[in-house]
Amino acid sequence: MKIICIARNYAAHAKELNNAIPENPVIFLKPDTAIIINNRPFFLPEWSTKMDYETELVFKIGKVGKYIDEKFAAEYISEVTLGIDFTERALQGELKSKGLPWELSKSFDGSAVIGKFLKPDSLKNYKNIEFRMEKNGETVQHAHSSEMIFPMTKIISFVSQYFTLKTGDLIFSGTPQGVGSVSIGDRLTGFIEDKEMFAFNIK
Ligand code: ZN
Repeated sequence: MKIICIARNYAAHAKELNNAIPENPVIFLKPDTAIIINNRPFFLPEWSTKMDYETELVFKIGKVGKYIDEKFAAEYISEVTLGIDFTERALQGELKSKGLPWELSKSFDGSAVIGKFLKPDSLKNYKNIEFRMEKNGETVQHAHSSEMIFPMTKIISFVSQYFTLKTGDLIFSGTPQGVGSVSIGDRLTGFIEDKEMFAFNIK
């Protein structure tokens, strides 16, 4: 399986990092070794100096598809959860300034935390999913899926022009504003609507 991530998909977040609003979705990948499940702790890598959380809706692909029409894209989503796209912001800044790929700063082991999965029909409002994340009990990110620049159907259609989507692939759909750093001892708790999706510690 593969993990496909969308960058700069919320206008307010693009602005907080001084990035332009993109014309097309900005895409990067993470390997399966990035995944953390079951509320296991996130261990800060020794080389990290500024580790940021990015809270994101994560969509699981339920069937194989290529060149998917936007009209049918919703049928390819089988489940949804909340995740953290951990980003080493200092290293990312260095790589960006040199025009180099971001993978070392975004695709390292443990950089893709995922919560428990929900069926779309178990949500109160699947068309406009509300989600938030608490750091040490205080809400630091809160948004709705309708604020995405590129909706999931557009992302699925766009990505499938380049990559065959396979059952079990995950799509991290981008973070809203409010990103910030974590330190050892922090606890991150994520919610979709009123459901707790993950709760884990930084070690
Ligand atoms: Zn992200």
